[in-house]
Amino acid sequence: MTDSVTILGSGSALPTFQNSPSGQMLSLNDKSFLIDCGEGVQLTIRQMGLKTNRLYCVFISHLHGDHCFGLIGLLSTLSMMNRTQPLHIYAHADLEKLLRPLIDYHCGDMMSFEVIFHHINPRKQIVIFEDRNVTVETIPLKHKVPTCGFLFTMKGQRRYAYISDTMYSPKIVPMISGVDLLYHEATYTDEHDARCKTTTHSTARQAAMIARDAEVKNLLIGHFSARVDDHELFLNEAQEVFPNTRLAEERKTFEF
Ligand SMILES: [Zn+2]
Ligand SMILES: [Zn+2]
Repeated sequence: MTDSVTILGSGSALPTFQNSPSGQMLSLNDKSFLIDCGEGVQLTIRQMGLKTNRLYCVFISHLHGDHCFGLIGLLSTLSMMNRTQPLHIYAHADLEKLLRPLIDYHCGDMMSFEVIFHHINPRKQIVIFEDRNVTVETIPLKHKVPTCGFLFTMKGQRRYAYISDTMYSPKIVPMISGVDLLYHEATYTDEHDARCKTTTHSTARQAAMIARDAEVKNLLIGHFSARVDDHELFLNEAQEVFPNTRLAEERKTFEF
């Protein structure tokens, strides 16, 4: 089976009619992994008919709302669907502090499955998950709150890197060198590049510079600001630097 990533949300903090906040479903072999879970992710999963019985782990890059507000709704729905298999959530320790009381309050002893939190330190590059098919490693990023990306290395050495919210950070280049598919946030176009410093985000061009310098095979860009309506602008600016760039369009699946 080919490994693939399905884009569930590729907008930034302010949801638009065009985009929902961040979320991706990675399908590897016999398991699915959810990466970030912005508001609306569970609806897209259901509308696309994606199966959640293979969903094994959730990886949360950081605790800004556009990356985790969808979790409580998803957990509640999975419980209503009588999931029995435990669900593992990998995130900064504060997520358990914030989410556990909500799970207890809203689902309480009606919860049909166990939620197991694994605390990660986003400032360290470290292996956080390993099974016989895949290894997942953190990639520390430069953002307003502790944030990391994730590197998925499959048996057979195919690799997918998810670079969540970050300022332009050439430090990550050696960590993602030569990956088969890189997702890198691209919140702004050149026109708004002054905002990158204040909001700690990247432009499409900067995402492409990282892809070029890391000599990755293909680049996906997303986390589009609501300030830019025409997504072709992101694509054009990135492709000037790295031609193998595609937009992380919602409800599309990309194989690698
Ligand atoms: Zn974000
Ligand atoms: Zn953020």
